[in-house]
Amino acid sequence: MQNIINEAESVLLHTYNRFQVVFDHADGVCLYDTNGKEYLDFVSGIGVFALGYNNKEYNDALKAQIDKIMHTSNYYYNEPAISAAKALTKAAQLDRVFFTNSGAEAVEGAIKAARKYAYNKDGNTDHEIIALEHSFHGRTMGALSVTGTPKYREAFQPMIGNIKFAEMNDFDSVLSQVTDKTCAIIMETVQGEGGITPATEEFLKKVRALCDEKDILLILDEVQCGMGRTGYMFAWQKFGVRPDIMTVAKALGSGVPVGAFLMTQKVADSSLVAGDHGSTYGGNPFVGAAITKVFEIFEKEDICGHVQKVGAYLESELDKIAAKYDMIELRRGAGLMQGLVCKEPVAAIINTALSKGLVLINAGTNIIRFLPPLVITEADVDRMIKILDEAFAANA
Ligand SMILES: *Cc1c(COP(=O)(O)O)cnc(C)c1O
Repeated sequence: MQNIINEAESVLLHTYNRFQVVFDHADGVCLYDTNGKEYLDFVSGIGVFALGYNNKEYNDALKAQIDKIMHTSNYYYNEPAISAAKALTKAAQLDRVFFTNSGAEAVEGAIKAARKYAYNKDGNTDHEIIALEHSFHGRTMGALSVTGTPKYREAFQPMIGNIKFAEMNDFDSVLSQVTDKTCAIIMETVQGEGGITPATEEFLKKVRALCDEKDILLILDEVQCGMGRTGYMFAWQKFGVRPDIMTVAKALGSGVPVGAFLMTQKVADSSLVAGDHGSTYGGNPFVGAAITKVFEIFEKEDICGHVQKVGAYLESELDKIAAKYDMIELRRGAGLMQGLVCKEPVAAIINTALSKGLVLINAGTNIIRFLPPLVITEADVDRMIKILDEAFAANA
C-alpha cells in the first residue's frame, strides 16, 4: 500500500492531506483496501453512495446504458435525461432542472439564474447575494464567493462581487444585510462541511417570508443534505419551506459525477434562456440512466422511511457516546447526517477508528461527521458505535 501512496504523492497535486489507505473495492456498506482489510463506511464518499456499494440493479442499469449510448450533447434530446428530469422535478416539487457535473457547478448555475432574474426586473448589474457564515458551496470561483470560510477565499481574491454574509439561524443578521439590491439568499438547509448545523424551522420560515415580501430568491443548497439524507427527500420538505432555486449533487448520481439546479416555473420564465448557460457533459444519457435508477430504487425501497428509522437510532446511540465522554460537547444533525462536536481536534480519534476498520470524516477541526450509506441497518450502527467507543477510550 505504501508504494501506491508514494506514487500518488509524486503525481497528484497535493490539495488533500489523505488518509494513509488505498481503497480497492467495496460491497454494501463496506470498503476494502488493497490488502483485503474490511472497513465499515460511515462517510459514503462524502454522502455520495446513498444506496451502498455494488447495488446490482444500479450497476446493471449503468452497464446497459454504456452499451447503448453514453454521451450525445445538449444540442440533442436523450430519453434517460428526460426521465431523470421528470423524477427529480417531481421529488423536488420544482418545475425545471439543469444538469451539471458537480455540486459547485450547480451553485454556479443557481447564482447565474438569480442574477439574471434580478437583471430582467430592473436592468441593473449591481445585485447582491446574502450567504451564511460557515457555509460551504464548493471550490469554483462563484461557489467559493458564497462560501462562509474566509481562509478558503483569502488567497483567491477578488471573489465575485456583492456578496454579504449573515449568521445561520439568526434572522436579524440576515435582515441587517438586506438592501434594495439583494437578489438572492443562499444557504444549506443543513450546513455540512461547516459543522452539521441544521437550519431551524423558525429561521427558514422567516427567511422564506422575507424573500416572498421582497421578491428575493431563496436558494437552498441541498448538495449534501438532500436526496433522503435527513429522512426527507430534501431537507426543506420537513418544514414545507420550498426554495425558488435548489442545488443537488453528491447522492443524486450515487456514484456518477452529476449535479443539478432546479427552479420554479416563475424563475424559469424570467431567468436563463438559450445561450445563457451550458455544459458539454451535463445530463448526458449515462448520468441520466443513473439518476433515473436512483429515484426508482429510492421509491421502491422507501429509503426516506428507512432513514427516519435508522437515523433516530443513530441519534440515540450517538447521544449515549456523547454523554459518556467529557471531550464531546454535543451531538447535532438530522437523520443520517450527524456530527459529534468535540472540545478538541478529532483527527486522532478518526485515525484510531480507521486503524480499527471504521471510516469516519471530520467537519472542521473539532467535529466528527457521520454520513453513512442510507441503507445501513441498526446492526451497522451498533458495529460503528463499538469501534467509535474504543477510539474515544483510546484517545481520552
Ligand atoms: C460538496 C458540496 C458542494 C460542492 O460539491 P462538489 O460536487 O464537490 O463540487 C456544494 N454544496 C454543498 C452543501 C456541499 O456539501
